[in-house]
Amino acid sequence: MSAGTGAIRHRGLRFEEPLIFEQGAEGKTGVDLPDVPKIKDRLGGLARKTPIGLPGLSEPQIVRHFTRLSQKNYAIDTGLYPLGSCTMKHNPRLNEKLARLPGFGDIHPLQPESTVQGALALMERLSDWLKALTGMPAIALSPAAGAHGEWTGLMTIRSAHEAAGDARKRVLVPDSAHGTNPASAAMCGYEVAAVPLNARGRVDLGALKAALDDDVAAFMLTNPNTCGLFEDEILDQAEAVHEAGAYFYCDGANFNAIVGRVRPGDLGIDCMHLNLHKTFSTPHGGGGPGSGPIALCEALVPFAPVPYVAEGPDGLRLVESDASGTAFGRVKGFHGQMGMFVRALAYILSHGIDGLRQASSDAVLNANYVSAGLADLMSLPYEGPCMHEVLFDDAFLKDTGVTTLDLAKAMIDEGYHPATIYFPLVVHGALLLEPTETESKESLDHLIATLRRIVERALAGKPDEFHAAPVDAPRRRFDETAAARRPVLRWRPPAAEDRAAE
Ligand SMILES: *Cc1c(COP(=O)(O)O)cnc(C)c1O
Repeated sequence: MSAGTGAIRHRGLRFEEPLIFEQGAEGKTGVDLPDVPKIKDRLGGLARKTPIGLPGLSEPQIVRHFTRLSQKNYAIDTGLYPLGSCTMKHNPRLNEKLARLPGFGDIHPLQPESTVQGALALMERLSDWLKALTGMPAIALSPAAGAHGEWTGLMTIRSAHEAAGDARKRVLVPDSAHGTNPASAAMCGYEVAAVPLNARGRVDLGALKAALDDDVAAFMLTNPNTCGLFEDEILDQAEAVHEAGAYFYCDGANFNAIVGRVRPGDLGIDCMHLNLHKTFSTPHGGGGPGSGPIALCEALVPFAPVPYVAEGPDGLRLVESDASGTAFGRVKGFHGQMGMFVRALAYILSHGIDGLRQASSDAVLNANYVSAGLADLMSLPYEGPCMHEVLFDDAFLKDTGVTTLDLAKAMIDEGYHPATIYFPLVVHGALLLEPTETESKESLDHLIATLRRIVERALAGKPDEFHAAPVDAPRRRFDETAAARRPVLRWRPPAAEDRAAE
């Protein structure tokens, strides 16, 4: 592990950056504007009478504030981003270049279709690739993210059941599922029932069969699951789900582990969302746009949301309403995230099918490399190799007084974004790492060496050091409960008594 311990010493960010409101002062300004002439109030007394409280700052203050904030933005472009379940991979710059081509970047959804034939052709081409990769006959491109895709998929399933005169009440979700799965089912008006895992970290087939009845609308599986394991009884699951007259939904957020190797349609999946912003390298995080197309089996096609691209008399067109009246409508303004479609197709075409297969193999290899580099110090809840992410539990921290949260905070001091922690919920003190295929061996060695150093310190019995972490970041530990329960979303000037107390 020597390669990682050498010269690169990432350190926490050292600059404190107050809110712009805390830096600004009334009366200061970045530009000189002439006094506003007195004008007649044409709003009939509705015009604002008090100042709106914008902070006053000089131009260099503003430039520095936003530049410093931009530098604090830990991103995949600044370092390895080990968040499990999120597939934080490099976003190739070629994708960016293509997304900015005027024919894709400068068009408007209200332009006449005859002027955007290329963009429509791109959407069709992307759909064709997604059909080929999933082994499923139809794609709805418009959902804006994974969770939105789940909801759209379940709405499609609900429409199908209702059309068959068989409105069902319940959706089954494994214990290990991402929180969005039960949330999406509940948003669709379904009751959610949990299915437990077996000792091997997979869905308990017996429990699934016992939970299936004629009131179950769908079973939502994530494969590979959030424990980083392939659901190897998926064919039996599919058979049981279909026998009960339910649909088999797959959360495809982890498709990066199997793309180019396994086609979910061949496994009996009826409906599945794809996170273009995970598997197909379009950027995500920080609230940027995602894209969560869904793939559908033949039986669900009549119930797919609009719009979709189809051949018309004068070329390609977007079908905006559904002639048969079975679809539940649209889920997004216009047609979805065009920029993400371009980036995803650029990624797919630049890799080719062999390149995609290589990428998923490398993602799995990298996760297993990290696992092998840490397995002697940390504890793995399940035996055997993992898929694209490696899951540790906190058994190795027993009696140290150090928690998984402490380890995550210690990672910040070492210049790393923390791993995913306490998810999946089924594993005690879970720590989930997903390096992705785009990390080099050197970068993986550095991560392993850093984590080994942190864990060795944890095992050396000085828990107090850990409870203080991060010490190199400008802020220490937050009161996370208060932050969740009482978020302060709007800055107000400190009250007079607080100012006096300072
Ligand atoms: C990321 C993720 C989701 C949700 O996707 P978003 O695009 O963030 O809405 C759902 N399930 C799993 C397993 C995920 O990793």
